[in-house]
Amino acid sequence: MATKKAAFIYSSELEKYHYPPEHPFNTIRAQKTRQILNSMGLLSGDGRKEVAPVPAERVVLKKFHSARYLHALKNASEGHWDNEAFYMGIGTSDCPVFEGLYEYALLACGATLVGAKLILAGEADAAFNPSGGYHHAGPEKASGFCYINDVALACMVLAEAGKKVLYIDVDVHHGDGVAYAFYDRCDVMTISFHQDPRTLFPGTGFADEIGTGAGKGYCVNVPLPIGTYDRAYMEAFEAIAPPLISAYKPDVIVFELGADALAGDPLAHFRLTNNVYAEVIRHLLSFDKPILMTGGGGYNVENTVRAWVLAWSVLCGADSNAGKNRTLGGVMLGSTDWRRGLRDSALVVSNHQHNTVMPAVEAAIKAVKAKVFAVHGL
Ligand SMILES: [Zn+2]
Repeated sequence: MATKKAAFIYSSELEKYHYPPEHPFNTIRAQKTRQILNSMGLLSGDGRKEVAPVPAERVVLKKFHSARYLHALKNASEGHWDNEAFYMGIGTSDCPVFEGLYEYALLACGATLVGAKLILAGEADAAFNPSGGYHHAGPEKASGFCYINDVALACMVLAEAGKKVLYIDVDVHHGDGVAYAFYDRCDVMTISFHQDPRTLFPGTGFADEIGTGAGKGYCVNVPLPIGTYDRAYMEAFEAIAPPLISAYKPDVIVFELGADALAGDPLAHFRLTNNVYAEVIRHLLSFDKPILMTGGGGYNVENTVRAWVLAWSVLCGADSNAGKNRTLGGVMLGSTDWRRGLRDSALVVSNHQHNTVMPAVEAAIKAVKAKVFAVHGL
């Protein structure tokens, strides 16, 4: 399906805010993604448009975050930081206090919520907020570079509007904040593909974490081994996601596209190329439902930006290539020289890598199927 109406959610207002320079999370990724898409002419025409975010309203934030936490976050951002805030994760090395933190968190979250609104109003079939995907934040906890959980809030807003929501997360880290927000609910199914929690933050997301009560079987965790490469990843994805999505029949898909599973990411240990993201998006598009896509992790800035540019081009139907190397041609911008196009070259997989990765991937597929497929009549 070529998407008819696609909204890229961005404003230069977001460029005012930066994590401290030594912090791995770089807000410039969204700015660069926007700049390149704009120069390629991919933000207008053919049903595409740019939409500016508005800050998330407090009444919406309180659907997930406690008043106490929001108060502490705002106070810290204004320079009044105390022990209580610290125990909520605010002001730690992972979640530092920086200038304009509260305003940034609200605007970045508001951008995802604008995407949800456009979808609910029928004004977009696809929306992308590259400044979103803060999937680790808890109701009363800043965690893993995340302060306000925009994706959990978007799922809540969509569910409150009566939609059956599928949340799918391909960030290399477990989407814990979202998974636990809906752990006992069946109106939001969460599926997270991530690096084995025994080897990576946040240390959760085992295959046997499947939800509870009415939500049993609606929380799906697919832990994959260090060294996971494209073919191995797609084997897991194709075995698990399409059958579950077909059985669940969502009305809308929220897709967290952290790009830290790419080879060369400094914080994680997968070896994917961005071709995986293009394939995943093609699968999601095949369900012909609105898709709200966000950014997330991704600590190699250049690779992350290229992945998001490619993802948007696939999402909005500008890249109709089903699997060959490219259709969009070379991209040359300032210091960025992507002469081979948007897609990464294939990476060589050694026998050793194959022999260590595949058995663990197959074991993960088997474990997930055994835990949740029966719930959905599969
Ligand atoms: Zn991540």
